[in-house]
Amino acid sequence: MARPTPQPGILDIALYQGGASHIDGMANVLKLSSNENPAGPPQSAKDAIKNASMDMHRYPSTDHADLRAALGARFGLDPKKIICGAGSDEIIAFLCQAYAGVGDEVIYTEHGFGMYKISARAAGATPVKVKERNRVVSTKAILDGVTDKTKLVFIANPANPTGTMVSQARIRDLINGLPPHVILVLDGAYAEFADDYDGGASFVEKHDNVVMTRTFSKLYGLGGLRVGWGYAAQPIIDVLNRVRGPFNLSGPALAGALAAVNDVDFARTAKAENAKWRSWLAEALAELGVPSDVSKANFILARFASTDEAEACDDFLKSKGVIVRRVGGYGLPYCLRITVGDEAGCRRVAHVIGQFKEGQSKEAQS
Ligand SMILES: *Cc1c(COP(=O)(O)O)cnc(C)c1O
Repeated sequence: MARPTPQPGILDIALYQGGASHIDGMANVLKLSSNENPAGPPQSAKDAIKNASMDMHRYPSTDHADLRAALGARFGLDPKKIICGAGSDEIIAFLCQAYAGVGDEVIYTEHGFGMYKISARAAGATPVKVKERNRVVSTKAILDGVTDKTKLVFIANPANPTGTMVSQARIRDLINGLPPHVILVLDGAYAEFADDYDGGASFVEKHDNVVMTRTFSKLYGLGGLRVGWGYAAQPIIDVLNRVRGPFNLSGPALAGALAAVNDVDFARTAKAENAKWRSWLAEALAELGVPSDVSKANFILARFASTDEAEACDDFLKSKGVIVRRVGGYGLPYCLRITVGDEAGCRRVAHVIGQFKEGQSKEAQS
């Protein structure tokens, strides 16, 4: 019998797995599974959202002019080349919807962020996975993976869940090696956590086929508000605005993001605290025999001797009320991704992993 059938690709989508947020029957849970800011949202954003709630009977701005102007002023960018979305996830979806369809290929990398594949499939396109080198994006493997059908290439820099970065020189080589009709998307969700990095904005200024995406969800502590943005040459922004819903961001979301982008102190403190506790946590775990690649983001990818050990450690952490992220779905079953918490959070997760390691060596001796 005939029945409603979705577009090609839709039924191939595996649902996005978010970081867990609770453990049954456990209070005082420490959530380090979704790369959230341990300090919470900026007070300035909370106040702005409260005020904006008074006007919720009004439709919000459709062109996001105030937020784009503030972003332009803060980061030295042309507001006309900015588009805002309900999280940078929405910008990723717009790019796939507008530029890739049935028969087209979308390249992402071995341990790349899950939304690239999901959005490519949602658009009917074929996601193509290329190898990384020791948990670092390989620009050579990307170029080797390009075919006549390639329309988009997605790289997060710094990457999630590895935390590693590709150098500016390598990105330049990649851009020079790509056919000009292929769009390179530099996902800068963690750009603010890296030192001396513009998220790829300077490449956008020079190349009409490069897009930068950014978000308020990570450094700015506003993952629940759903605000992200993209930066690209005018022709691409014009295309994306055609598929964007006219009211894709709510009034409170726009107000909160506007306050956050102007809250330079909040951003500075969040970055400094993260850098301090990120290196503390990486060193503490290394001393316990749990190494990690140097992370430029707000999490570290803890490496274990085996998948069994990583899973046993995750179970132990959970039994102690600490939630981290399993990353088997990202081809890293021997790793756990741990968000950099505040001081108490970092000390607690390191302490529990220490207990786990101690229990292991006792078991080995008996
Ligand atoms: C968290 C994340 C995003 C998207 O976050 P939004 O909340 O949709 O802005 C995008 N890319 C990467 C790599 C991420 O980790």
